[in-house]
Amino acid sequence: MEKGILYIVATPIGNLEDITYRAINILQNVDIIAAEDTRHTLKLLNYYNISKHLISYHRHNEEIKSEQLIEKLKEGKNIALVSDAGTPGICDPGEIIIKKCIEEKIKIIPVPGACAFVNALICSGLDTNEFTFLGFLPLNKKNRKNKLNEIKISNKTIIIYEAPHKLEKTLKDLEEIIEERKIIIARELTKIHEEFIEGSIKELIEKSKEIKGEIIILIEGNKKEKLNEKNELNEISLEEHYAYYEKQGFEKKEIIKKIAKDRNVNRNEIYIKFCKK
Ligand code: SAM
Repeated sequence: MEKGILYIVATPIGNLEDITYRAINILQNVDIIAAEDTRHTLKLLNYYNISKHLISYHRHNEEIKSEQLIEKLKEGKNIALVSDAGTPGICDPGEIIIKKCIEEKIKIIPVPGACAFVNALICSGLDTNEFTFLGFLPLNKKNRKNKLNEIKISNKTIIIYEAPHKLEKTLKDLEEIIEERKIIIARELTKIHEEFIEGSIKELIEKSKEIKGEIIILIEGNKKEKLNEKNELNEISLEEHYAYYEKQGFEKKEIIKKIAKDRNVNRNEIYIKFCKK
């Protein structure tokens, strides 16, 4: 029997009209829609008069549900996967079933559409050429600190998803590391209260309690390129320095050479430190 197809369908991030004709067609024609929150997706389906068998597929049942969906796909059923908003898999469920489909040689077709961070980025006025999308910052202290260090030295535009009630805390964490860089909050994209709020980090912290709805934080890249300045280097550990170059794709040997040069120390000193890495 021919296997079915898994369609990964992007849905609106607010305005129900932000969906493609193709996505509507696919939602109308598949056998099953796997949805993060079936009640939420029903609003979209009702708006477009689509009546379809819905199965819930969310973070807490992703593992089990993906097995069940794989069985249906093997029986030849076509399935559309949607999340509550935007593109599945982007800070939303999707990854697990997609990986399983690849293992099982089940065809996956992306159906493009809205994605919140892309729209925040393009209207932010910040560099769009190169950027880093971090999703939600980790809550674990150590992981969060590592991410903040990454933001501190990155010369690319940084994009972070955040929940409004955590905005103040996150801005305060950012205050410690971003100095004079531009910061923009994109709020309620495609909805009535859509807004791009720019200000100094201090101003934004003061306003943060009034900023409601769905938000994205965008931070200008670190343009000072002062990694080889003494002050900056004193502030980052050797490990962070190593990670900085590793992220740029340099090989270990090259990284050691660069670190030694930046810190004006003998290459062997750095080599000894990382020889077990
Ligand atoms: N899959 C979605 C996408 O493609 O962007 C993201 C889902 S993630 C669970 C939800 C986060 O996305 C929110 O906390 C917010 O940071 C961002 N987001 C989603 N819709 C938004 C909107 N209309 N305006 C601003 N941010 C939005």
